[in-house]
Amino acid sequence: MSSEIPLTKIKGLGPVMAERLRASGFATVESVAIAPARVLAEVLGVSEERAAKISQAARELLGIKFVTAEEYFKQRSKVAYISTGCKALDDMLGGGVETGAITELVGEFGTGKTQLCHQLCVTVQLSEDLGGLSAKAAYLDSEGTFAPERVVQMARRWGLDPSEALRGVYYARLRSVAEQVASLLELRRLVEEGVILAVVDSIAAHFRGPAGPDALTRAHELAVYLSSLRELAEEQGVAVVVTDRVSAAPGLAELRPSADPIAAMFVDYRVSLHKVRENVRRAQLEFAPWPARRSALFAITEDGVVDV
Ligand code: ADP
Ligand code: MG
Repeated sequence: MSSEIPLTKIKGLGPVMAERLRASGFATVESVAIAPARVLAEVLGVSEERAAKISQAARELLGIKFVTAEEYFKQRSKVAYISTGCKALDDMLGGGVETGAITELVGEFGTGKTQLCHQLCVTVQLSEDLGGLSAKAAYLDSEGTFAPERVVQMARRWGLDPSEALRGVYYARLRSVAEQVASLLELRRLVEEGVILAVVDSIAAHFRGPAGPDALTRAHELAVYLSSLRELAEEQGVAVVVTDRVSAAPGLAELRPSADPIAAMFVDYRVSLHKVRENVRRAQLEFAPWPARRSALFAITEDGVVDV
């Protein structure tokens, strides 16, 4: 019990002063913590300034720390970064994948979107000194390409226990737009249980379809879905990572993300991935909250996503 902490444990309070306090009826650390500095100063025969320091030390000893609402707000909205496990990519992103934001990985089939998603599910679990957040991940899989054995392989690189690494990832297979939307509710619950990274691989799979009257409904549903992900990111500080395959668009020479133009309105960071040679890829930061157009090279190996 805190009331059993001896008064002399209070920083700056010697045995003589402790005795003075006891003689005046201040028997516990709590009583010192709540006493006005003016009263303490009188009892102890010290300046009010010094008395204030003593009562502050008593509060700290009890583990109560007051902060202003402004400080609290800042703490809560503090941005953190999850290392990708590849230094060149982290540098390109300004430190890694940002919490409280949506990062989108776009590219053709086989460019490494899914590999990067797997690796982030591992790195988010690492301690902060290794670039992680000691947190968990949720993997929402609409393509059916999640591979737990790949998580195990990647976890080895950091000496993580394989079972523990797997327990740190919540997985759901999403087979329709309805399931994708419904999973948001469960995702909110998981965030309360320590999930900081939410991966959606991919966002557009179920929203694709032929042009026609249904296209508008699909576009609307996608916008609502993405705005829910944004809310999750902004209000709960979740790092949301989504993937999107590029495809040919009518009338456009270039390939473009299949969820565009809607996705572009909702994501904070867009990284496009390009195949350079067999296992080497180039990542290009297409847009970010700050003006930037930079790129980085990485390789995909048995160990995961690594620097070239
Ligand atoms: P995307 O999701 O963009 O379609 P992936 O992330 O699935 O692409 O990347 C597939 C590529 O990752 C493969 O072409 C291969 O080069 C590489 N890859 C996947 N698994 C392994 C592995 N175990 N060892 C080495 N490279 C791998
Ligand atoms: Mg994929």
